[in-house]
Amino acid sequence: MLSLLKPSFPHRRNADGSHDSICTMCLATVATVKSEGELARHESAHVCEPFNLYRVSHGLLSMRREAQ
Ligand SMILES: [Zn+2]
Repeated sequence: MLSLLKPSFPHRRNADGSHDSICTMCLATVATVKSEGELARHESAHVCEPFNLYRVSHGLLSMRREAQ
């Protein structure tokens, strides 16, 4: 039940000073912005890509996580 899992969005600082937000559910890069403060609105608007969720759930995409 994916609806029971809340995505979270760790931020990554890039070498050029921009910030990425990564969705832990579908592993998509939600947004890349110059100001980290802009990420929140991108995150609230993010909808997981169903195809990415499928690939993640089948182990075709992976990110090191403690969950499961
Ligand atoms: Zn997502």
